Amino acid sequence: MGIKLTTKYSPNFGLPKRIKKRIEFIIIHYTGMKKETAAIERLLNPKSKVSSHYYIKKNGNILNLVPDLYEAWHAGISSWKNLTSLNKHSIGIEMTNPGHYHGYDNFSIKQILSLKRLLKYLMKKYKIGYKCILGHSDISPDRKKDPGEKFPWYLLAKNKLAWWHKLDLKKIKKYRKVKLYSKKEESNFLKNLHKVGYMKNNQKKSNKKNNHFIIKAFQRRFRQDLINGKIDKECFLISKSLLISWIFKLEFLKQGIKLKLPDKWLIALIYFKEESPGSTRIQCQVIPGGGNPRDSATENKPP
Ligand SMILES: [Zn+2]
Repeated sequence: MGIKLTTKYSPNFGLPKRIKKRIEFIIIHYTGMKKETAAIERLLNPKSKVSSHYYIKKNGNILNLVPDLYEAWHAGISSWKNLTSLNKHSIGIEMTNPGHYHGYDNFSIKQILSLKRLLKYLMKKYKIGYKCILGHSDISPDRKKDPGEKFPWYLLAKNKLAWWHKLDLKKIKKYRKVKLYSKKEESNFLKNLHKVGYMKNNQKKSNKKNNHFIIKAFQRRFRQDLINGKIDKECFLISKSLLISWIFKLEFLKQGIKLKLPDKWLIALIYFKEESPGSTRIQCQVIPGGGNPRDSATENKPP
């Protein structure tokens, strides 16, 4: 293997052995404990009933605690897209960080370098796509905050090791705290989060609290400098940008057009409605194979 590992096996794992194909996700955690040694001890202690496959220390050293093909106990109650209990489908990576309750710290450069190496290796070995690299808070938003808003998702995304939007940070900042036009847009935003993968949510009063957690998890991941659990236009645009190539592909496919728009066009379409209030429909003149011009995508229509 191309990466340096120290083996320190934990007894906290589940049988039977999984097949390689079952490993579809990688879940990133922080330890949330003051001391690194205590955190490692906990993961090795049979009484704790918790573990992870890998552990990345503050100095960048990587420990292998559970072999990949056994189920480590790192995710607990969790869901993503149509899956629940992500332990069965994932590899867990713990990283030393005291976490939100003990003086949340930046991850060290050495930790991130080791993480990049480990992700590259695992993604290749198990054919895991960059959209399947998740944080614990993504899959358990009502219980977990890790790895938190100091985790550099955008840096990983630059190396195609994570999912991140392509919007200009300065440009979208002007939509921060700006309310959405309507309840319908709010509901579309929540639907977008579900399409991204977050647990199902809805507009019922009893679920408001749950929605709040899900929005916070989304913000910790994609809008890291303001985590308030409130819906605003900046978050809405980010959610649309994550889904937009899919939305437009679907729209064009419905009309029998196979067309791949460049990213910068898609991004321009995201801003279009915000900068042209009152418009709900974008007119694109698309001439497939020299045929008749067609009216295409409805910008804000959920697919
Ligand atoms: Zn965790």
